[in-house]
Order: sequence, then C-alpha cells, then structure tokens
Amino acid sequence: MALAAPPPVAGLLCDEPLARFTAARLGGPADYLYIAKDPAYADVKALLDWAWRGQMPVTVIGGGANILVSDAGIRGLTIINRATTIEQPDGGESGRILASSGASLIRLTRFCQERGLAGMEWAIAVPGTVGGAVVNNAGAHGSDIAASLRRARIYEAAGERWLRPDDLAYAYRYSRLKQRTDRRFFVLSAEFELQRDEPASIQKRMNYNNEYRRLTQPPGASLGSIFMNPPGDYAGRLIEEAGLKGLSVGAAQVSPIHANFFVNLGDDARASDYFRLIRLVRSAVEKAFGITLQLEIQTLGEWE
Ligand SMILES: Cc1cc2nc3c(=O)[nH]c(=O)nc-3n(C[C@H](O)[C@H](O)[C@H](O)COP(=O)(O)OP(=O)(O)OC[C@H]3O[C@@H](n4cnc5c(N)ncnc54)[C@H](O)[C@@H]3O)c2cc1C
Repeated sequence: MALAAPPPVAGLLCDEPLARFTAARLGGPADYLYIAKDPAYADVKALLDWAWRGQMPVTVIGGGANILVSDAGIRGLTIINRATTIEQPDGGESGRILASSGASLIRLTRFCQERGLAGMEWAIAVPGTVGGAVVNNAGAHGSDIAASLRRARIYEAAGERWLRPDDLAYAYRYSRLKQRTDRRFFVLSAEFELQRDEPASIQKRMNYNNEYRRLTQPPGASLGSIFMNPPGDYAGRLIEEAGLKGLSVGAAQVSPIHANFFVNLGDDARASDYFRLIRLVRSAVEKAFGITLQLEIQTLGEWE
C-alpha cells in the first residue's frame, strides 16, 4: 500500500541533517523532519497518525542528549520536540508543576527554584527535555525524575492517557517506555509534585551540583555517560583502569577528564568513529575485567 500524502502541516522538511539536533553534533539526515514548537501538539499528532497508519518508522528527539545517530541518518519521520510550557496548574496552591515534554529540564529546575519548590536540584546541569527524562528516568546526585514525577501524559494510536510512576516501572536509567520496541508513543507532558523550601537553600544545592559537574565533567560535544554503571562499580573507573583515557578514533575521544564521557573533537567527525570507539572500549574493558558494559545512550539508524 502506497503511503498517503503527509497532512498539511507547515514546516515538514525532507532529507534534513540531524547533527545540529544532537548533543554529540553527529548524525546524517532524517527522511522527514518536523520541529514541534506548539505545546498543544496538534501537528505532531496529525503527523504521528499519518506515519503510524502508513507503517512509517517514527523517531522522537528531545534534546538529543542521549542518542547517537548514524551517518546514514534515520528513515521515516523524525520529530524534534522544542515545544515549551511550564506552569503551576493550581496557581501555586500546591507543589505541583505541569510541563510540556519539550521543555528543557534545566529550565524546569530554575522555574521550581524561583517558586521555592525543591526536588529537581539534581537536574540543574542535565541537558535534554522533560520527555527524554521521563523515558530514560534521568537522574544525578542521588536522585532522579521518578522521585518527583506524579504522572505523564502520552499519545498513542489508541488515544491519550496518563501514566503513573508505577505504570512506568522506573529503575536506574530505565522505564517501561524506554524498553518499548514499537516506539509508537509520544510523551506530551508531565506533572511533578515538589516540596516547599527556601529559594536560597534550593539555589545553594543547585550551585553545588553545578560546580561538581564543572570540576568533574568535560565541556564540549558529548553524550554524557556512554555506559551505565555496572552493579557496585563505575563504568568510568573501569575504563580508566583499563588505560583507555585519551584513546581516540578519528575525532571521537575518551575524555581525559572523565573516562565514561566520549567527546567529539572535530567539525568533520563521523558517528561511525564514535561507534567504533564505543566498541573498542567495551571489548577492552571486557578483556581486562570480564565485565560487559551496557550502553546508557541509545543508537539510532543503521550501523555496520
Ligand atoms: C553533558 C551531558 C551530561 C549528562 N548528564 C546526565 C546525567 O547526569 N544523568 C542522566 O540521567 N543523563 C545525563 N545525560 C544524558 C541526557 O541528558 C539524559 O538522558 C536526558 O534525559 C536525555 O533527554 P533528551 O530530551 O535529550 O532525550 P533524547 O536524547 O532526545 O532521547 C532519549 C530517548 O527518549 C525518547 N524521547 C525523548 N522525548 C520523547 C517524547 N516526548 N516522547 C517519546 N519519546 C521521547 C527518544 O526517542 C529516545 O529514545 C547527559 C548528557 C550530556 C550530553
């Protein structure tokens, strides 16, 4: 069956490079690309319905902070989620915050601090969107999104529904959504429940977390931690002990500052180099310690 013509949505692009939408600044083109800016997501829903009906693959990218896109790019429809609203649904009576999925996590954290709402301080330097954090259970400094999430609204072929943390089966950098292989869902928004505290105290904790990151993590284009920490250990420690700090393939390098961060040093870098470096590091750690590191990042597109 031939695919129907796309719905009349302004701004649907064809064959559009994705590198600028990813934190590693890597990746080839999307067949179709749509940048969502309206938090009502009417256009996104129309495009999703069209793609799902035609069996076209769909990829959703928030901040692109946890994905490695292949040089050949992504087939089908890719949605970049930039739609931002953050509000207090009951005018500030309770500690609830409602955010669209395209809102930046850092912006959400600042919004909470300004209103004397605590619980998101861990996220002050974590790039990406609310949607990506809900899917990945992003976390840092001993906390994570699961700790403050009240519910998340998702769009599927069958319609919209709210999911509670229990429905999402949260664990370390894991949710039931992340595991879904059909990828036929779109996180629309998320509601958080936070605790009251003095804005100055919240700011102090944010400053501490920011400073800790500045001292321990490299600046520049990267995807944060490449591998998940194995139980009872740290991926960065294992990579460093295996003598791999500074190892590079093309412009992709194991950061000399933090061994679980791989930085993209060049304008002409290729995703295939980054991917080869991941494989090299994984097999070297396996050889040295008998531990197979699991990817924290997600690879998208085709790989050799
Ligand atoms: C410098 C740096 C530091 C980092 N530090 C941390 C850290 O301390 N802790 C941590 O947990 N992570 C960290 N990360 C990784 C990253 O910030 C998180 O994984 C973040 O939650 C990714 O959000 P995103 O919007 O960029 O998601 P993306 O990378 O764009 O997408 C991630 C996944 O979520 C899906 N997705 C995104 N939005 C939606 C949506 N609306 N609907 C459906 N699916 C969606 C995507 O399809 C993909 O499967 C770091 C990354 C960098 C670059």
